[in-house]
Amino acid sequence: MATALKRTTLGDFELTICSDGPYFLDAGSMFGVVPKTLWEKRIQANERNQMTCGENSVLVRTGDKNILIETGIGNKLPEKLDRIYDAKHLLLDSLHAAGVAPEEIDIVINSHLHFDHCGWNTMLRDGKVVPTFPNAKYYAQRGEVEHGHLQLERDRISYISENYDPLVASGQMTLLDGNAQIAPGISVELFPGHTAQMQAIVLESQGKKACYISDLIPTTAHLDITWVMAYDLDPLTTIEQRKRFYARAIPEKWLVLFTHDHDTPMAYVEKDEKGKLTAVPV
Ligand SMILES: [Zn+2]
Repeated sequence: MATALKRTTLGDFELTICSDGPYFLDAGSMFGVVPKTLWEKRIQANERNQMTCGENSVLVRTGDKNILIETGIGNKLPEKLDRIYDAKHLLLDSLHAAGVAPEEIDIVINSHLHFDHCGWNTMLRDGKVVPTFPNAKYYAQRGEVEHGHLQLERDRISYISENYDPLVASGQMTLLDGNAQIAPGISVELFPGHTAQMQAIVLESQGKKACYISDLIPTTAHLDITWVMAYDLDPLTTIEQRKRFYARAIPEKWLVLFTHDHDTPMAYVEKDEKGKLTAVPV
């Protein structure tokens, strides 16, 4: 069963949070070098030291197109991993509750290709891997696919080729080389650090902006520039890129969409006189 949908408008666009989760990740890994004595003031970990993480996709209805940002964990994980993450497989139910069928999705954008961000790109049907969104054009960064193919010891577990290779082979997925405009008011911009080619999805309508910042800032508990995940391949770059993001997102009042925050998927980020960053939920 899908949880209640969170929805807002951005100019002419309607944004609906469609969750595939929640799921569980090790809270220590989520906060990197930050001591537990500090992060546990913000996050309640369970008896296995895991925290509840959102699996937030965003359905953008532009009036012209149905655009899906990110596709969750999906239903292709091996049973053991599925159990470890307690994957819920809710995305299609969430989209149904939002009033959209998979056939009606025109565009799918993946911020990067870790399995928890592109799992429903494809699905198993009668033992075969098929596109979940048959009429959609998919977009991802070429560098992400190439990195996934390297199958490095550090992060090969995060890359499951069935989530992208069949779509690239059929021509359904377009591989991007850096920043690009996908549709009117919809663009992608590289914000490296978590991976070398992670991209944010920037939405703009009637002078209002929103940004799906993905794993650059996974939850509202990660706003401080040095509260960086242990998963990040290049934490120093994450810190610099967070500064670059806030320099625009705060003064221009961007609505920030958080990929892994189960309770607060959308918020404005504000900075007080002392420089403390806070999230103001919508
Ligand atoms: Zn990731």
